[in-house]
Parts: sequence; structure tokens; C-alpha cells
Amino acid sequence: SPLTIAIDGPSGSGKSSVSKAVARELGLGYLDTGAMYRAVAWHCLDQEVDLTDQEAVAQAARDLPLEISTDPDDQTLRVGGTDITSAIRETRVTSQVSTVATNLDVRAELRRRQREIISEARDERGGIVAEGRDITTVVAPDAEHRILVTASEEARLARRSTELHGGADADQVEATRDQIVRRDRQDSTVSAFMEAADGVVTLDTSELDFDQVVAAVLALVRG
Ligand code: C5P
Repeated sequence: SPLTIAIDGPSGSGKSSVSKAVARELGLGYLDTGAMYRAVAWHCLDQEVDLTDQEAVAQAARDLPLEISTDPDDQTLRVGGTDITSAIRETRVTSQVSTVATNLDVRAELRRRQREIISEARDERGGIVAEGRDITTVVAPDAEHRILVTASEEARLARRSTELHGGADADQVEATRDQIVRRDRQDSTVSAFMEAADGVVTLDTSELDFDQVVAAVLALVRG
């Protein structure tokens, strides 16, 4: 029977790479919902939509011709034929995405699309690993498995620095710390994202390496 694995966590928790690995291991689809918020932010920047104009941003989200792959080995993201897979990772997008994500009409639109994608994956590929900030609570509260991945600020900072710069230059680490702290603060205004809701399993990954986190998630799913 079809399987939805909902995984939430803050930035730098490692949830994206872990979710992808779990999807591969179980032969399921994979959905990165953060990429969808990034796509809306990218589009608004590209089209010079005024980010303080709530209605204009909401309309842009509703009209966005977004194609997102649920193949864990092909995370191509397109808007109207334009490949924006790497553009959505740029700093200008990362620094504006929380603003877009606090727009409740944007959230309503993306949640609707996410539920559609999940339901299609359940029908067509046996299920999906969907990750983000509100998947265990709002997008898929009825998922077969719901996991909140947490990590200490230090652990998240270390992971993000390695991801972004491949190592530790003191200035870059400091800049990354500022970025993470700022984005956490902005994200926490949307809801209490990072508290486990009833029935959600918390997995603290501070002391675990990548393979151990993947193994822990698989153990939870396999029971
Ligand atoms: O996961 P990632 O860091 O790429 O997410 C980018 C941003 O999208 C987050 O900082 C957050 O503001 C927003 N987001 C959200 N709800 C989700 C996924 C992401 O608000 N389910």
C-alpha cells in the first residue's frame, strides 16, 4: 500500500539529502517543498514583482508554471521551460525566500500543489518522501510516517558551511551563522515550525553522521 513519509526540519538539519537517500533506498518519489518556495521567490525577483505587495506575490504564485520533478535522481526545476535548478540556490533567493513564505496565500497555493503531487506519487510510484517545514503538520498530517529532524545550531552551522564553501574560512562561517540565525527567526514567524506535533517522531541528528541519520529514518519506517 502507498507510503508517504513526511519530514520536517530547519535549514541545515540535513533533511534534504537524507530525504533523497531514503527515497532512493525505498524506491519512492521525493519532493523538496522548499524548492517550490524558492521558485516563487526567484520568479518574483526575475519579474521584479514587488515583494512587499502581498497580492501581487500571491497572484504570481498562483500563475507560476512550475514543473518540479519527484525523481530523487533528477531534481530539475523549471518555470515555463526555463531551468532554474541552480538559480534557486543563489544568495539573493535564499535571503528573500522567507518573505515569500510568510505570505498566507502563497502558502495556500503551494500546499494545494504539494498535496496534488503527493497524491499522484502515491498512485503512480508507490509513495513519496516529502520534506519541508509544515509537511508533518499541515500538508500531510495523515502521512504513514512523520518525522521532525532537529540538530543543534552548531551542527547545522557546520553542515551549511561545508555545503556552501566546502570548508571553514572564519569570515564565511560567521556570515553563514548570521544567515542561518536570520532565516530561522524569519521562518519562526510563520508558525512554530520546529516543534514536533502530536504523533510526530523527533530525530536529533546533532551527534549522527549522514549514514546514521539515513539508517535511523529507515529503521523508523521499517519498524
Ligand atoms: O528547505 P529550504 O531551506 O530550501 O527552504 C527555503 C525556505 O522556504 C525556508 O526558509 C522557508 O521560509 C520556506 N519553506 C516553508 N515551508 C516549507 C518549506 C520551505 O515555509 N514546507
